[in-house]
Formats: sequence, C-alpha cells, structure tokens
Amino acid sequence: MPQHDAEFKSDVLAIAAHRDDVEQTCGGTLLRMAARGLRTAILDLTQGEAGTRGSADDRAKEAEEAAGILGVGWRSALNFPDGAIENTLANRMEIVRVLRQLRPRVVILPYWQARHPDHAIVATLGYDACFLSGLSKVETGTAPHRPFKIVYASLYADVRPSFIVDITPFIEQRDLALMAYKSQYANQPTGSSLFVPEEEIRERTLAEARHYGLLAGVKYGEPFVQKEVGLVDDLTLVPVQSI
Ligand SMILES: [Zn+2]
Repeated sequence: MPQHDAEFKSDVLAIAAHRDDVEQTCGGTLLRMAARGLRTAILDLTQGEAGTRGSADDRAKEAEEAAGILGVGWRSALNFPDGAIENTLANRMEIVRVLRQLRPRVVILPYWQARHPDHAIVATLGYDACFLSGLSKVETGTAPHRPFKIVYASLYADVRPSFIVDITPFIEQRDLALMAYKSQYANQPTGSSLFVPEEEIRERTLAEARHYGLLAGVKYGEPFVQKEVGLVDDLTLVPVQSI
C-alpha cells in the first residue's frame, strides 16, 4: 500500500495529535468512506515519544499496520512534541504543506474542547492551517488548496453531535485497527495502574459506538460536530432519521 506516496491525493484527511487517536474517534468513518470509494488519509502530528508505554518506533510500526486495516491510502506523522503541541506559524506551515500535497475535500479534526491539551490545540491548529493553505500569497512552492469542509470528531467531548456516521458494518474492523497498537493496549505491567485492561477496552469502545449509534437509530455510530449551519436545497433529501 502506498502509504507514503508523494503523488497521493485524498478526498478525506483525518488529522490527529497521536497515533491511535484516529482509530479511536473516526476509524469506522474512514473505513466507511474507503468502502464508498473515497481516498482516505491520516496525518498524525506527533511520534508518540511521551507515551507511558512503548517507544515511538513501536508506535510507528503499529500505526502502519493500523493504516492497512483501515484501508487508508496514505499515512504519515510529523514530529511535533508529544504533550506540548503549539499553534505556531511554523507548525501551521508544516500542515499546510501536507494539505497542499494531499488536497483533501474534507478534513476531520478533533473536537476543540478536550481533556488532553494536545487534542484541543489540534482543533484550532488544524483549522488555522486549512485557512492558510488556501491563501495564494502563502508560499510553499505548491498550489494553494482550501478544504471544502472541516468536521470535528467529538467522541470524547460532552457535546451533542451534529451528525452520526453509521459504522455498523465496520465495527470489527475498527476494533482490529485499534488492537494493532499492542504496545498500548496489550496487557503488561508498565502503566497497568493507568491503562484499562485489554479485555475491557473492547467493551468500552463498543459501548460508546452503541451509544452514538442509538442517537441516530443505527447499531454503531461515530459522532461529529460541524460548526457551520447546513444549507438545504430540497427538504425531502435532508439526511435525518425518521421521527
Ligand atoms: Zn490522543
């Protein structure tokens, strides 16, 4: 799989702070989009050197394996400091270079309020980069590109989602992608007081997916927030579940 192909173009790009964030919050959605024939990609912003468990090298290999399971066509990681990501011009420009290479129509970012400071900052850093990327006077040697839409993966936020993506057919595949991170989720002595036991992770992630699925009348779902108000052309085609 050409995960590092310099010529790759994406329809949907998920940007996240840490390797395994995407698997947890929108992995089922990426699987669904790939099944619809869309070209999907993941940009992780850190290498994971601050994690309690496993090394950055372990996580790189696991991320590669997970990308294969999720069917993404491209995945790469920048080298922002794990646990101390900042919204600086230099960091925005690194993301702009990726946006202009991949030219995604939709970008998925983490929701802007989060327990982990990296997650919250990536919401604004990613938004600002998407804006800068569209400015022709911002020079990178590549053509400007502004994504058509940004949506926020809100699984861990206490917020009512704008919409749910039905991931029911992909729930087992998503679980496999998450479990590819053996350094994080396999039972082991290091961090055992901090980490949920392996057998409970599946139960928790399925319960969350079930909760969001129920909100939309399907079995398993992933929640998203969009900032913009929707624009409707035909009331009979508005995508809501029946009352
Ligand atoms: Zn994270």
